[in-house]
Amino acid sequence: MSFVVAIDGPAGSGKGSITQIIAEKMNLSCIDTGAMYRCVTLDMLNKNIAIEDIEKIKELLKTIDIKLDEENKKVYLNGKDVTDEIRSMRVTEKVSQVSSIKEIRLKLVELQQKIAKNKDVIMEGRDITTVVFPNADVKVYLDADVEERARRRYKQNQEKGIESTYDEILENLKKRDYNDMHKEFGALVKADDAIVIDSTNMTIEQVTNEIIKIINEKKKQIIEDEKVYEVVPDSKMKRFKYAFVKKLLLIFVYKLVYRIKIVNKEYVPKEGAYIICANHINMLDALSVVCTNKRKVRFICKHSMFKKKILGWALKLGDTIPLDRDKNDIESMKRTIKALKNGDLLGIFPEGTRNGMEKNVKAKNGAAFFALKSGVKVIPLGIQGSFKPFTKVKLVYGEPLDFSEYYGKEKDKETLEKVTNIIMDNIVMLTNKKI
Ligand code: C5P
Repeated sequence: MSFVVAIDGPAGSGKGSITQIIAEKMNLSCIDTGAMYRCVTLDMLNKNIAIEDIEKIKELLKTIDIKLDEENKKVYLNGKDVTDEIRSMRVTEKVSQVSSIKEIRLKLVELQQKIAKNKDVIMEGRDITTVVFPNADVKVYLDADVEERARRRYKQNQEKGIESTYDEILENLKKRDYNDMHKEFGALVKADDAIVIDSTNMTIEQVTNEIIKIINEKKKQIIEDEKVYEVVPDSKMKRFKYAFVKKLLLIFVYKLVYRIKIVNKEYVPKEGAYIICANHINMLDALSVVCTNKRKVRFICKHSMFKKKILGWALKLGDTIPLDRDKNDIESMKRTIKALKNGDLLGIFPEGTRNGMEKNVKAKNGAAFFALKSGVKVIPLGIQGSFKPFTKVKLVYGEPLDFSEYYGKEKDKETLEKVTNIIMDNIVMLTNKKI
């Protein structure tokens, strides 16, 4: 797995210097995508190719060779060191226009994604947080006043011996800002989930420290997230603790506080893989199913729940399967399929959230998907009651639903929706059933 830090922002906001410092401090590969657009611009200038001449540009893109030598901080274009030349006014004046050309953007975005593959990187540019790595681990939008940016660039040019005046730089920055923000493809925009840092009144060190803090927090969060997926290995002790906690909850919560009643218990077979699908009213309803079943019922549950100390411990004890709905949670899917293969009894709330039906939330297709993929029956369950203390709670099971005519069709959306609707109709019927 690679870790990606994406930084976007206007020219002169400090991205270049800051990403280099962070890359060294945090052992990340540093990729300056602006240098790549500058290389294409220089190549076009050298070969006298006009911006409108798309055919010649396509030819150039087929052969162009851009190398970013990170160790020596050099940029090579077709084998030649162009580190300083790409920063000249001649290139700077044209680069924004050149980078508006769709064919060039497509080629360079592909190259940037390829360079970063399987590496921990920090990449800076204009469209990194939005186009190149929309799923980056850390996204920062670095901003600063245009006058401050011009002052910084002027000082930088003086230090490097590049000829330019402050007014020239300010004018160029304003023009580039406008072009960069109004491009048809890969325009500079703040990604909704990017952290914005305004560096106008900040030193390089302050901005660097701020971003390092954000990176460290994200890394800590990733470690925490991974812990959620740790499985507690089976042992005598685990089985004892599970049985003990279950009994305790059954007596003191579900018998004393709720006077729970189970209807049609016989619909839950003593062995074999099944998925219990129920309506979701309260935090306590999954536990009520777990505590009142002789068999272990493994629910699929929001992964954020595992981060709560006691609850997380209990969920792991019950071999609950974590699911992160914000991503394509392959690990969760694999675990669910494996559990069904093992002949386990699973629990899913197709509503996905508490009182989803009341809130008009469309039922999720997950249960249907696993039933069709693994070829297992679904046991509908209607949970009746309000879970107000000292009121009755009824768990009304329905006859297992056989979807064998649809097995293997889990990739067909229409079939999935049909199966989900049948499951939901059965749940609704059971929640309304007079007992
Ligand atoms: O970052 P730098 O100022 O070197 O970038 C030069 C130009 O390249 C920018 O003004 C912008 O027009 C273009 N660019 C881009 N997309 C990127 C990086 C740079 O369009 N990801």
